[in-house]
Amino acid sequence: MSNVEDVRQKHLKLAEKLFQKEYGLFIDGAWEQSSSGETIDMINPSTGDCLAKIQSANAADAKRAVEAAAKAFPAWSRTSRSQRQEIIYEMGRRLKARAEDYAMMDTLDNGKPFMEAMNFDIPMAVEQFEMFSGAPWFLHGQTIEAPNGLGIVLREPLGVCVQIIPWNVPLIMMASKIAPALAAGNTVVLKPAEAVCLSVIEFFKEMADLLPAGVLNLVTGYGPNVGEALVAHPLTRKVAFTGSRPTAQKLIQYASTNVIPQTMELGGKSANIVCNDADLDAAAEGAAMSTVLNKGEVCLAGSRVFVHEDVMDEFLGKFQDLLGRASSGDPTEHTTVLGPQASRMQYEKILNYIDIGKTEGATVAYGGGKREVDGLPDGLFIKPTIFTDVRNEMRIAQEEIFGPVTTVIGWRDEADVIRMANESIYGLGGGLWTRDLPRAHRMARALETGTVWVNRYYNFIGGMPIGGYKGSGFGREFASEALNHYSQTKSVIINLEEGPIGVFGQ
Ligand code: NAD
Repeated sequence: MSNVEDVRQKHLKLAEKLFQKEYGLFIDGAWEQSSSGETIDMINPSTGDCLAKIQSANAADAKRAVEAAAKAFPAWSRTSRSQRQEIIYEMGRRLKARAEDYAMMDTLDNGKPFMEAMNFDIPMAVEQFEMFSGAPWFLHGQTIEAPNGLGIVLREPLGVCVQIIPWNVPLIMMASKIAPALAAGNTVVLKPAEAVCLSVIEFFKEMADLLPAGVLNLVTGYGPNVGEALVAHPLTRKVAFTGSRPTAQKLIQYASTNVIPQTMELGGKSANIVCNDADLDAAAEGAAMSTVLNKGEVCLAGSRVFVHEDVMDEFLGKFQDLLGRASSGDPTEHTTVLGPQASRMQYEKILNYIDIGKTEGATVAYGGGKREVDGLPDGLFIKPTIFTDVRNEMRIAQEEIFGPVTTVIGWRDEADVIRMANESIYGLGGGLWTRDLPRAHRMARALETGTVWVNRYYNFIGGMPIGGYKGSGFGREFASEALNHYSQTKSVIINLEEGPIGVFGQ
């Protein structure tokens, strides 16, 4: 057998072990086919083979799912706090217990390197369940005392929450959505991305016995076929979305039908600022990591690197050297750092942006284009790419590429770099590299963005809120703050005085 056939057989065997041939929708505690009668092939981006088929849901399926969630809501909202805690904690435990299987599912479906899924996706998803399992105990109202009355602020769940997630980190997205929603006593209809969602469907199979029918429902398929039916349904009480701005704009319109609350976690074009006193080894490592982690398909990627002119050459040398060590290859292998892009659509989009950069007059300082990988001739691989001679107003510096492509821009003046960093419709993440403490604080405050990592990119600390400024959206997740988005308060005022007020002189 050729090397190509060996690798292909390895992937096919793994798929056979981990996936069913076809999956259903999970509605009201049962697996069922879509009323559309249509399915979607889930493609392995390493080999081009079909991994499994998912249902292509339509509006009728969406309606049934929302109605099942509405029916389950009254009983679920009254479950005891310890019961909800036990269930949510058990979800995390089950995810952890089969960590390798779930990591490999995402590797096959999304193309992310197995070791990255093991070290990043799985622990972060588990953490969401662990953190929010404790939340039911701390979700409570308050009392406010007045001379003549007692104010009681009750905290209550919202009802049916529709949650729509993307394909880049499916398990993290699923966990960060369903854990706080369930903890607060809501019921859920989750709509994962049609491009990558097999790990999420498999996890629903694993969770099915934990919850009463209808508490968690899963609708798969193309967003436009179900979006309006899910979000504008009169029984839907909230929509939580992670994905692109154009989709968010549609969802906000659907949400306006019944004026329901929304949380929107959208894209980014985050600035990563290297000062002239920075630890350049660490800064270059941060930039390289941001370029290659999940093949650059990360909303928080620091894809606009601003480097002080005094250290530009040294920084670029180190950055290029590190990218040279990022081996592309079979993502199921433990040594692979860079896998294939998640879908052909994304692959074409990134290659198109590389062409746009060249046309705009930027210089490809490293990479730029497709990469051939031994054994995987049909893999959707792209070389990690650095653009220099970039102006901040170029499309490659302003638009989210969502691939392993980073633009580098020089700067001299602190006020100038802050201005450039903030000249973006987005404001999701960001990095800052300096040993000067007052400067770090000053610049971090000046950046219009939801997260700033000082001296280590992607330095996630569990419980810290993640969310956008400006066009990167609104609402915060991954932190206790998320619970406010899944509950509402009711003010009950008990009068402590007897009899009428005497307004009418009686
Ligand atoms: P996308 O907007 O195309 O799709 C996201 C989800 O929305 C998918 O499930 C899709 O089926 C669904 N969808 C599409 N049209 C719909 C409609 N009309 N109604 C209802 N649902 C619809 O985004 P994508 O390409 O899957 O994801 C990439 C984007 O997600 C990037 O912009 C990225 O930055 C962003 N993202 C943000 C975060 C964050 O935390 N802020 C995290 C991950 C990804």
